[in-house]
Amino acid sequence: MSEKTKIEQLKEQLCYSPKNAVEVLTTEQMQEADAYCVGYKQYLDDAKTEREAVDAAIVLAEKRGFRPFDRKDKLVPGDKVYYNNRGKSLLLAVIGTNPIEEGVSIAAAHIDSPRLDLKPNPLYDDHDLAYFDTHYYGGIKKYQWVAMPLSLHGVIVKKDGTTVTVSIGDKAEDPVFCVTDLLPHLAADQMKRPANEIVRGEDLNILIGSRPFKDGEESDSVKLNILNILFEKYGIVEADFLSAELEAVPAYSARDVGFDRSMIGAYGHDDRVCAYPALTALFALEKPAYTAITVLADKEEIGSDGNTGMQSAFLPYFIDDIAAAFGVEGRHVLQNSLCLSADVNVAFDPLYPETVEQRNCAFLNRGVVLTKYTGSRGKSGTSDASAELMAFFRRNMEDNAVLWQAGELGRVDLGGGGTVAKYIANLDVNTVDLGVPVLSMHAPFEVVSKTDVYMAHKAFLALLSRNEKL
Ligand code: MN
Ligand code: MN
Repeated sequence: MSEKTKIEQLKEQLCYSPKNAVEVLTTEQMQEADAYCVGYKQYLDDAKTEREAVDAAIVLAEKRGFRPFDRKDKLVPGDKVYYNNRGKSLLLAVIGTNPIEEGVSIAAAHIDSPRLDLKPNPLYDDHDLAYFDTHYYGGIKKYQWVAMPLSLHGVIVKKDGTTVTVSIGDKAEDPVFCVTDLLPHLAADQMKRPANEIVRGEDLNILIGSRPFKDGEESDSVKLNILNILFEKYGIVEADFLSAELEAVPAYSARDVGFDRSMIGAYGHDDRVCAYPALTALFALEKPAYTAITVLADKEEIGSDGNTGMQSAFLPYFIDDIAAAFGVEGRHVLQNSLCLSADVNVAFDPLYPETVEQRNCAFLNRGVVLTKYTGSRGKSGTSDASAELMAFFRRNMEDNAVLWQAGELGRVDLGGGGTVAKYIANLDVNTVDLGVPVLSMHAPFEVVSKTDVYMAHKAFLALLSRNEKL
């Protein structure tokens, strides 16, 4: 080894330069990251909707000794509990050894993703083709959702209250569904429309059948035939759609991307790529110092409203209940708590370099991205984490060998966005955003790096197993 020159020494001492995982991790650590992602890909395939994400998380949690939370229970360090909020969001906690008034550690991710929801009265036919009419959910580029296989997931709750669970299109033997697109030969007018109108929201109708009903010599509509099939398969009638939540999502499973298999392509990385690591980090705890909580929230993609979204009181109520078990006020717990709002951020894309500012942008394979603020224009709509909190997480992550980088959501004034961070910060909790950089965010096929996913697990574990206060 040759001696470092003065310049090399100074650069090392003074300059900030984020590194690619291959420069920092050992071969064994790279293999650990790849192995970790096997479980993540399974979770992606098991959990295509918020309801399925809750169900799959509960299966994993119960295997590890978590039990449903009962506010009358006595809680002791090491207890593992979960609270299922209406089947669409989930809170899990491992009780710590420190007094609860010293605060808790929270990793809060969301489990809803952009998709096509069926309208309340979705079924119709037109010229002997049957369709489900949809209303899109979340921020999508509508043209991305045509001419690809879709599966259908959700519930139909009949008038008598019985629930029919639907999951069709993901198994190899299942049929799939699709939105058709216009052939290029006849698309001259369509291609002149602005991109947000190439495919119009009202035209995102899903093709579900083409064969009319037939009884002996008599035939009727394709719609009647579909209704007859649905009645035989699910025991439902047309009016039952009025009390259903059915979501069309891409019908393919998660796949490795690249000859080097360094990346994962899938539907719904945003935000299962943070939800799964927030779960596995919690599962790695036995008796943490601070009580650790993982939040899997619904409705983030449409503003976190409603009683399963993070603007609802279900998180502070849960913390109230835990605090009450120790005779403490919930607000005294909240004000001393630390939260990683666990959500994805944009990864630099060499095809669109002008959309970000490269000194303040996340790159694939440089680890998890800590995001001080999100929002748009002049930091509108963000909680903007404090310097003290940023310093805490720099130390916390580096002490635990977490590879991380800092990032903003795009160039100033180009656009922007928000996360659940502000809703949790508004509860008087010290909160900052941390998550995985994503290529093609909100597209039906998003791409992340395996080492970044693994670093998300390590980052959440570093917080949830902390011994230090802010
Ligand atoms: Mn998100
Ligand atoms: Mn999103």
